[in-house]
Amino acid sequence: MDYGHPLQFGTFITPGNASPQVPVQLAQLSEQLGFDLVTFQDHPYQPAFLDTWTLMSYVAAATTSIHVAPNVLNLPLRPAPVTARAAASLDLLSGGRLDLGLGAGGFWDAIEAMGGRRLTPGQSVDALGEAIDVIRGVWDSGNREYFAGGEYYPVKGGKRGPAPAHDIPIWIGAYKPRMLRLTGRKGDGWLPSLPYLKDGDLQDGNARIDDAAADAGRNPAEIRRLLNLGGDNEVDQLVTMALEDGIGTCIVMGDDPSALQRFAEETMPAVREAVETERARRGTIVGVGRTAAALAKRREGIDYEGVPESLRDTAIEPGDFAYRTVRSTYMRAGSPGLVLRPTTVDEVVDALAFARSNDVPLGIRSGGHGVSGRSTNDGGIVIDLKALNGVEVLDAATKRVRIGPGARWMDVAQSLDEHGWALSSGDYGGVGVGGLATAGGIGFLAREHGLTIDHVVAAEVVLADGTVARASVDENPDLFWAVRGAGANVGIVVSFEFEVDAVGEVGWAQLAFDASDTEAFLQRFGEAMERAPRDTTLFVILAKQRGDVIGQLYGVVDSNDPDTILERLQPFAAIGPLVGQQVQLAPYAVVMANASDATHDGQGEPHFRSGLVEHLDAQVAAAGAALVQSGSTPWFQIRSVGGAVADIPSDATAYAHRAANFSITSIGRSDRFEQHWADLAAHFDGLYLSFESRQGAEIVEEAFPPATLARLREIKRRYDPDAVFRDNFNVGVENAVNG
Ligand SMILES: Cc1cc2nc3c(=O)[nH]c(=O)nc-3n(C[C@H](O)[C@H](O)[C@H](O)COP(=O)(O)OP(=O)(O)OC[C@H]3O[C@@H](n4cnc5c(N)ncnc54)[C@H](O)[C@@H]3O)c2cc1C
Repeated sequence: MDYGHPLQFGTFITPGNASPQVPVQLAQLSEQLGFDLVTFQDHPYQPAFLDTWTLMSYVAAATTSIHVAPNVLNLPLRPAPVTARAAASLDLLSGGRLDLGLGAGGFWDAIEAMGGRRLTPGQSVDALGEAIDVIRGVWDSGNREYFAGGEYYPVKGGKRGPAPAHDIPIWIGAYKPRMLRLTGRKGDGWLPSLPYLKDGDLQDGNARIDDAAADAGRNPAEIRRLLNLGGDNEVDQLVTMALEDGIGTCIVMGDDPSALQRFAEETMPAVREAVETERARRGTIVGVGRTAAALAKRREGIDYEGVPESLRDTAIEPGDFAYRTVRSTYMRAGSPGLVLRPTTVDEVVDALAFARSNDVPLGIRSGGHGVSGRSTNDGGIVIDLKALNGVEVLDAATKRVRIGPGARWMDVAQSLDEHGWALSSGDYGGVGVGGLATAGGIGFLAREHGLTIDHVVAAEVVLADGTVARASVDENPDLFWAVRGAGANVGIVVSFEFEVDAVGEVGWAQLAFDASDTEAFLQRFGEAMERAPRDTTLFVILAKQRGDVIGQLYGVVDSNDPDTILERLQPFAAIGPLVGQQVQLAPYAVVMANASDATHDGQGEPHFRSGLVEHLDAQVAAAGAALVQSGSTPWFQIRSVGGAVADIPSDATAYAHRAANFSITSIGRSDRFEQHWADLAAHFDGLYLSFESRQGAEIVEEAFPPATLARLREIKRRYDPDAVFRDNFNVGVENAVNG
């Protein structure tokens, strides 16, 4: 029986020797010789043996590509939840090179001598079964605490620690029927040693594993068959074991460097060649594909077998290890049925055509920070543009750059900083270019340099029908108009051309106030902001904490002159009792370097509200203060706009609210919040969609004034007549906007 596993070879090195460096050197030699794997036995009671886990960590640091595994780990002396964290940590540190061989124990006197619990054979199998569940449970627990009610590992709220870098396989050292059945039910591999096997044991073991796997609804081929080999190994014997007994991994035991070298140079290539030739003759498919458990997680309505060839290798399904990293966005928990990850424009075209042929929701994702959360969904398809993240200078004289939608603003700022340039963006470095540069872009340079969309001079767009259109003043000008403010409605922008600005170091200010006199504080902030020169763009966040309202003012003075910076900030220092201040000169790229690379793990639904006002007048300030003072929101933010933003005529782009000087955002879900928000919203003149999570016709109508909306709808009817791009603030169908 050949299960079709790609052939692998490993070494089995004694963890104790004359010099502690010897096993490390043998591991390095294994890597140089082209072995896939170096393994170490684990007997944490053996005199003079190095601790296996410590040795593996050291070896992982001293090698670069070879996988490292315990062969096999002595579970009775290594508590499962801690083993899970240790394995995940080493896997992460080694770049996904840890594989986990587990054993149930055996040398019980020695284990007991070390303080371990003596178990009967039956108990030790049960304990191993529980341990496997616990280890996988801890790896999978995300941000949640982990609980397990087992007899051997009762975990009462375990913390996951880091997630592993790859899907760590669990191989089981098994000989007896119960262990073999456990391997079939739960293992990713069977790892016996040939010297302990009698004639027929391999076949018998395989049969037991296969039966148990099938009984558990698994494909037996999911379980890799590994074998520790002692002494001399004939090529013919290894070829037969690979082709007839399904051995996919041969591990040579021994510490003799010349024997390892002989095996690597003579036996390994001969075995590979003979197995490849015979597999080709037999037509054996190499590679197992998705497990039965993974296939069972596929969602209805998606033709998984029809995923275009170009996207197959990078696509992620619910049963895949990497699904955890792509399912949710920064703001919203999601469970899409398929995430397509194109790396070229042609692949975006393929992805869109495929998505169109499946009648499920479609999300377009660039940086995954959309406040509405529509770049994930439940059971639908997501086209994730993260890989289209280039930043390229097209013309230094005009400061024209091409940027991919998947780039994050902190990376863009860093790249442009090398030229002494900056592009007006949002205030958070983790946000993606695609979502922000199709909606507006209100950030720390807005009053001096305008919105992000005001710097777009051309865009390449994959349209609903799969054509790739260039949009600029001269080419598809209607599309160009729509992309700048309502891009999500008309296509997938696969690259933007921007003209950027020369920006040196800026004054980065953070001031904190006692804003308990909230109404007056807001009004004074508004007045100071409107009076301030354009080089000053400050935002304020208010929150009620233990009865006091704290106001945090932060933003940029676009000047590298300390006196100018202080002069600009002086009027703001007087808007309330100042309780903290910090001002520094820093490159814009440093200001933007405020996000991490952590996996997006949004929970539930976002509840964001947004509105635009021209002035923070007495009524707005009173309503805003009432909302903050009510304690019904943990987040109340005002961003300043105006200045250069208002220089652009309101009909020049699909973002029309050019007169607004302030963008107001808050979060809340209680009735009390809704009432206060409604009182405040009575003073709004429009809203900015990037900070809104409600969907619906009313929201779209507030975001786009009537003339803008009419033009948008006409353009949408031409470019996206079937409303393919309908999942995020669809303007296409009056009074019937889906969410
Ligand atoms: C922490 C945080 C801070 C923020 N700060 C600011 C700020 O300072 N200023 C500001 O203006 N906004 C800000 N925003 C809002 C942000 O601009 C928007 O949410 C934006 O849509 C996020 O872009 P993204 O690519 O990361 O999001 P995604 O979730 O990937 O995309 C959001 C939506 O945009 C559309 N879209 C994405 N990519 C494309 C594309 N290539 N072509 C066409 N449509 C596309 C899709 O409809 C998608 O649902 C912030 C958001 C967060 C979460």
